[in-house]
Amino acid sequence: MIEAPTAAHPFDAPVSAALMQRARRVIPGGVNSPVRAFRAVGGTPRFVASGRGAYVTDADGREYVDLVSSWGALLHGHAHPAIVEAVTAAAAHGTSYGAPTEVEVDLAEEIIARTSVEQVRLVSSGTEATMSAVRLARGVTGRDLVVKFAGCYHGHVDSLLASAGSGVVTFGLPGTPGVPAAATAATIVLPYNDTDAVARAFAEQGARIACVVTEAAAGNMGAVPPLPGFNAFLAATCQAHGALLISDEVMTGFRVHRSGWWGLDGAVEGWTPDLTTFGKVMGGGFPAAAFGGRADVMGQLAPEGPVYQAGTLSGNPVAAAAGLTALRLATDELYAGLDRTAATIKALASDALTAEGVPHLAQSAGNMFSIFFGDPPRQAVVDLTGAQDQQLYRFSAFFHAMLAHGVWLPPSAYEAWFVNAALDQAAIDRLATALPRAARAAAAARPDARSDSGAAQ
Ligand SMILES: *Cc1c(COP(=O)(O)O)cnc(C)c1O
Repeated sequence: MIEAPTAAHPFDAPVSAALMQRARRVIPGGVNSPVRAFRAVGGTPRFVASGRGAYVTDADGREYVDLVSSWGALLHGHAHPAIVEAVTAAAAHGTSYGAPTEVEVDLAEEIIARTSVEQVRLVSSGTEATMSAVRLARGVTGRDLVVKFAGCYHGHVDSLLASAGSGVVTFGLPGTPGVPAAATAATIVLPYNDTDAVARAFAEQGARIACVVTEAAAGNMGAVPPLPGFNAFLAATCQAHGALLISDEVMTGFRVHRSGWWGLDGAVEGWTPDLTTFGKVMGGGFPAAAFGGRADVMGQLAPEGPVYQAGTLSGNPVAAAAGLTALRLATDELYAGLDRTAATIKALASDALTAEGVPHLAQSAGNMFSIFFGDPPRQAVVDLTGAQDQQLYRFSAFFHAMLAHGVWLPPSAYEAWFVNAALDQAAIDRLATALPRAARAAAAARPDARSDSGAAQ
């Protein structure tokens, strides 16, 4: 039997290791987005050579069941034939014009048909979408303050890279060097799911608040769904104070339901965000994102209105063709299948951990889910403080054992696991084989001196 690897002794991957050495000379940290570097779990990040369906193959020739799914972007798995065909056909006609094309209208109509938004503008990344939505909210309201929630990620927008202690109305401090204090001084950071904190912030600053920006369901501190009524409360509070609600569906949009999280929540509870941001799934694996909302608000954007926003590659016809094809493939039946697959994998993982006596909480937000390792397991994690209360060293051991047995999980305990529609019985069987071994590794794991996978905190 293969000995379960640990974070300290991961299986090696000589080709990936050599590529990483090369990469580090020319790319900071060897990666173009930090979490890819495996810093949170240790070991050598795998370079991907190819992907097909539910699987990726690394540069060392090892195949993995992929539960990253390009951080949620790939609803249909890798290299879906219809998407490859659409992209190839689009590219053969020309790749970019800097002029309007029909496929952009098709994609906008598809998004509008599925969601609460009345008009939409296409951009190239989720970061750009939230940045633009916040600018529009400020422009429309003539106010500066932005409310966000600790643990929610909205891309690397200066004003949204703010963290702050819990408590009452806390003005944000920059979460990274390079962001001037002035950029986050107008950001109020509150605990997620805390309606009292929101009510207090509006009581004190309501007339100055331009918008509340929130993940429709949080997926960047692990899967942390909004408590029932939380989004509705935000919508009502914003409306009462003349502020706008920006629902960030870059992760959840078209992933958890044909209409995104709003389809599971707003359409049921009867609330509507003023603006919504989209990304990931709607790009079909290409750089495409969008923000949209009420027509009167969107009408304030240039060239109709005074709020400036633009992009050389916005609405790129190849990306739009990929996104349109991905959305048209995303039927109610497909989402029902994704829900079943997610429930199956989550139960397999939780059962394997329970069998080995590993204290944990497996929590879902729609078909996204994650595991919080920790003792004693909580009933629910509702905010960042709860999410941070976990035994990260167990995740590292678990992660590396999964990887060694052919399953690629997101390389951080703070990320959701993403299913895709290509996950079939063979992939589930591989997961079912790997999970008990990974659970044993998690059970055997002990806190070590490494600062990033050390003791629970
Ligand atoms: C991924 C993500 C973003 C940023 O999107 P990028 O395309 O990486 O810039 C913004 N908001 C949420 C909720 C996300 O998950």
